[in-house]
Amino acid sequence: MKKIVLLGSSGSIGESALRVVESLSTRMEVVGLAVNRNYKRALEQARRFNVRHVAVADPEAASLCKAVAPSGVKVHSGETGVEELAALQRADIVLCALVGMAGLKPVLAALKNGTDVALSTKEVLVAAGRIVTETARKHEARLLPVDSEHSAIFQCLGTGVQSSEFSVQKSKIRNQKSEIKRQKSAIGNRQSAIKRLLLTASGGPFAGKPEIDFNKVTVAEALNHPRWNMGRKVTVDSATLMNKGLEIMEAHWLFDVPIDKIDVVIHPESLVHSMVEFVDGSVLAQLSPPDMRFAIQYALTYPERVDGKLPSLDLAAAKGLHFHAPDEKRFPCLRLAREAACIGGTMPAVLNAANEIAVQKFLDGKIAFSGIWKLVEKVMKRHHLVQNPQLDEIIEADFWARTIAQEVSQKERRR
Ligand code: MG
Repeated sequence: MKKIVLLGSSGSIGESALRVVESLSTRMEVVGLAVNRNYKRALEQARRFNVRHVAVADPEAASLCKAVAPSGVKVHSGETGVEELAALQRADIVLCALVGMAGLKPVLAALKNGTDVALSTKEVLVAAGRIVTETARKHEARLLPVDSEHSAIFQCLGTGVQSSEFSVQKSKIRNQKSEIKRQKSAIGNRQSAIKRLLLTASGGPFAGKPEIDFNKVTVAEALNHPRWNMGRKVTVDSATLMNKGLEIMEAHWLFDVPIDKIDVVIHPESLVHSMVEFVDGSVLAQLSPPDMRFAIQYALTYPERVDGKLPSLDLAAAKGLHFHAPDEKRFPCLRLAREAACIGGTMPAVLNAANEIAVQKFLDGKIAFSGIWKLVEKVMKRHHLVQNPQLDEIIEADFWARTIAQEVSQKERRR
């Protein structure tokens, strides 16, 4: 029985993960649930899945939760409560689907414990990729991608199931360290064979509509994603293509591939989830219906493949697969993310933090859709870079960028 701690259980990924657990209940169980504020949902889920540990990040919501939680449920409160849960000794894997930087410390806590992390929160790798990957390496814990594109690349790189993997899985219980080393060297050998990674992007609601004026896009239009049903922040990121920019950085850290070897291609059908081109010119792709449960299930059952009764892909019904290059002039977020990635140091954390504020301002009706990238660029220009930052310097840069983003947008509104 695989024991799972689920961070961010009330969000879209969290709910999908629970559906996966439900369909594979003979193989896995949830032992901990964490939410930011929605403790009512967490308690419902705890009852349904018989979970005894619940963490609530917001201290006020945590007190309310404690007051109504049944006696068998331990409530961990505040950010440290979420970290406690991530470091729960009983867990085999921690699935992190918290929104944004809130995932960073809990992910590090799990990795330091030697617990594998299935990572949905890409901001964690964007802001602190070096620290997170080094911590995973040092404590011999695995980082398993939950983002659909990265799950696709992970699978294309051949870390997917082979018959020998089943026996490896059995020996894992006896000797996890040698198994991880074996796997790492296998990935290492594949590195030199990679020509480039090809991240696919649905393009969101606007990539196929050059006539749209980005100064006049409404919140409802930006949230109307043609393929995926996701949280609000990632849906707006998908519409600006910032999501793809963040995913370039995520792929860089997960697969140790240089930024200039990671390309983006728009694929409106969202059936090809990403591709790897090898040095001999062969391209491998991974396909499935656009449903996050595929990536979640693979991360949770890895290295096995099991039948979770997910829908089959009907290619004939798709009628065609289309691909075209992204227009980086129309979607400056892609360029800004590449710039931040190439500058390195604290700049990706700054880009990410400024973007979180900008997206929230857009959702609150305070700035235009085009104001998102304008604000991000202004904050990046004002940043004094720290190279090779420590964790506290990253957190400081993140805080600085949020403050400046607030200031800049308020000043502009007053004008
Ligand atoms: Mg994605």
